[in-house]
Amino acid sequence: MNRIYLDHNATTRPHPAVIQEMVDCLRDAYGNPSSIHGFGQDARRVLDRARQRVAASVGAEPEEVVFTSGGTEADNHALLAGAQSRSSRGRHIVTSAIEHEAVLNTCRHLEKEGYEVTYLPVDGDGLIDPAAVAAELRADTILVSVMLANNDVGTIQPVKEVAALAREREILAHSDAVQALGKIPVNVRELGVDLMSISAHKLYGPKGAGALFVRRGASLPALLHGGHHERQRRAGTENVPAIAGFGKACEIAREHWYERNERSRRLRDRLERGILGAVAGTRLNGHAARRLPNTLNVSFDGLDGETLLLNLDLLGIAVSTGAACSSESRAPSHVLLAMGRSPEEARCALRFSVGEENDEEQIDEAIEAVRRVVASIRPGER
Ligand code: PLP
Repeated sequence: MNRIYLDHNATTRPHPAVIQEMVDCLRDAYGNPSSIHGFGQDARRVLDRARQRVAASVGAEPEEVVFTSGGTEADNHALLAGAQSRSSRGRHIVTSAIEHEAVLNTCRHLEKEGYEVTYLPVDGDGLIDPAAVAAELRADTILVSVMLANNDVGTIQPVKEVAALAREREILAHSDAVQALGKIPVNVRELGVDLMSISAHKLYGPKGAGALFVRRGASLPALLHGGHHERQRRAGTENVPAIAGFGKACEIAREHWYERNERSRRLRDRLERGILGAVAGTRLNGHAARRLPNTLNVSFDGLDGETLLLNLDLLGIAVSTGAACSSESRAPSHVLLAMGRSPEEARCALRFSVGEENDEEQIDEAIEAVRRVVASIRPGER
């Protein structure tokens, strides 16, 4: 059975050049980058090159990149250290109701520590309103965190406008750009953010590597304490092979983002037309235009998303009912609920996220499989 992977927002298959970069590093640059001998300096050079590549992919300076174990750690670092370091000024944080769990659960933790968090609502397309952000900012607001693109529905948020509002009031502006990087152009200067989280495995890099952009001049204490790594901002011997792979993935994404995204969009639009056209009772979730070019989230009236997912998996087609992290919880997607869908509507949704591996033949096969699966579960279907 030929399997078809349509879950690129959960993770991606590392690019062959990324794997090569990692293998070369494991074999040849195994020194500790903090050691001053030649072996250490070989590893340091690998780290420096990766830092330049990652920085270039988001328009940052290399010194503004702090390597982390992934998007979750970068989000935790931004929120925990950002809030703690400014707690003498205030204890109010603003975020959106549709953030990834890495942000939402960190905010819930901060609430237990005595911070107050405002979770901004979104409209039916999953968009926040900058005017609503402005209305929530107070004298004691210390941090605003709004994701650049949503993982479930792909809606792209007005982060530039939000960051400008924060900047005017000297409030720290963070954005989780984990799903955006590699799919749309991401530039920290254009966005005007102080802090931004990214992750390697969403853009054909390895798992377990990511980074937090910390704007020069924005003070942010360490989250992990120990040695003097990462300019004392993140202790622990760097995961050099994974970081090398991350750097390569960023370089490829920067050089090829346009073709990649045009291709993604073509395939996604074909899938969207096919599913919405061939299957009755379907509805698009997410903004029709302001959306990641690879993401399609569809509700299937009266059907259970998980049943659809399992039946598609039997046919070799991998999709998702939402964020990979929440797929074990069986709870309907908090993103769809925040967008005003009922729990029943949210439970009948599937997320398709296309990527480099897919081609038109696979998309047509997937459309046919969805049609067949729905017909088999829903008697009377065309
Ligand atoms: N933020 C968003 C928007 C994500 O989609 C994810 C992963 O699904 C994360 C953060 C967490 O990133 P990581 O898997 O690198 O910890």
